[in-house]
Amino acid sequence: MTQTVDRGTRVADLAAAADRIRHHILDMGEVQGQGYVGQGLGFADVLAVIYKDLANLRPQDPEWFDRDRVLLSMGHYAIAEYAALAEAGTLSVDELETYGSDDSRLPMSGMSTYTPGMEISGGSLGHGLGVAVGMALGLRFQGNPARVINMMSDGELDEGSTWEAAMAAAHHGLGNLLCVVDVNQLQADGPTAGVLRTEPLIDKWQAFGWRTVRVDGNDIDALVTAFESVPPGDTPAVVLCDTRIGRGVPFLETREKAHFIRIDEHEWDLARQALRAANPAGSN
Ligand SMILES: [Mg+2]
Repeated sequence: MTQTVDRGTRVADLAAAADRIRHHILDMGEVQGQGYVGQGLGFADVLAVIYKDLANLRPQDPEWFDRDRVLLSMGHYAIAEYAALAEAGTLSVDELETYGSDDSRLPMSGMSTYTPGMEISGGSLGHGLGVAVGMALGLRFQGNPARVINMMSDGELDEGSTWEAAMAAAHHGLGNLLCVVDVNQLQADGPTAGVLRTEPLIDKWQAFGWRTVRVDGNDIDALVTAFESVPPGDTPAVVLCDTRIGRGVPFLETREKAHFIRIDEHEWDLARQALRAANPAGSN
């Protein structure tokens, strides 16, 4: 997207957006009393940069044919995706409180048939990149310059289907494909390094023919630079984002079993207070 504001303002605006996304996540999590809150807090900065700075979208028109396709491969991050869609303007903030309720358009796992702006039904992990490859091929055949941005978790790097898709993307020279990996070092069964070693990630993606950059996924300024370093080109690109689960709420950053955090009733307000303390300039 064309940027007309200076860099400092741009980064500050994105940080404020990330802060609002975090608050939305806590508000939604409180409705259900649980959820994939830790991942959402960790990935909020990446979502803010993608939805507010990187992707070419018309938030009020989520079916716009020339939009960049932003895919949520890890469907259990839906709580964070809804927060980002509200921040972008595709969903209303008021609707977020329906999260996980009967008849809501915001189910606990991302489903494209329910939610405006949700491009795929993720959650059967390891499939997003394959879908993204198909979309990127299709757009190229149509002469459409839109980009496909596939967001995925590091646990999905265990899946053979991911690497098959990565190989195909490079083979077909899909320079309109960008993959964004949330490297939070954790998956359902434990630390990723213990479940199945996937490092060294840069070497692996490069060996598969991808332009590769690794960045602190909780540093907005660094994220902007990282995404700028991999514009559309002749080959696919991946941005590996090192994030911290629970980011912004210290007592959640260090909580055991952070994959599916249990948060006591009284802790939601404490979490919001922690966010405010971390970002007193935030708008919430
Ligand atoms: Mg993970």
